[in-house]
This record gives sequence, structure tokens and C-alpha cells, in this order.
Amino acid sequence: MQIITQACTKCGTIVSANELESNRVMKCPGLGCQNVLRFDDLAADEREHFLENRDRYNI
Ligand SMILES: [Zn+2]
Repeated sequence: MQIITQACTKCGTIVSANELESNRVMKCPGLGCQNVLRFDDLAADEREHFLENRDRYNI
């Protein structure tokens, strides 16, 4: 299974697409980082792949 993640553009913290999808918009979990991450920031093909396979990503 392909793991889809998004790296914070400010601090590089890796966030899973799973978390992004459930929150849509979330504050970066990185220590002291105020950056906001959005599911929409994922590349279009990654979003598509995730949504097509979302059942397998619901752990
Ligand atoms: Zn961050």
C-alpha cells in the first residue's frame, strides 16, 4: 500500500493523508510550528489515489 504523506513546508514534519483528510485543515504538529496544513495541499494525483483507496487508509 502506498503511504501518502505531506511534509510541512516550514519544518518538514510528516503528516499522513489520513490525518489531513479527517481534519481537512490542521495546524502542523511540529514543535513550535504554526504552519497550517490542508488536505488540498496534497498533489492532485495523491488526493485522487487516497480518495479512491480511502477504505484501506482507515486504520
Ligand atoms: Zn510545521
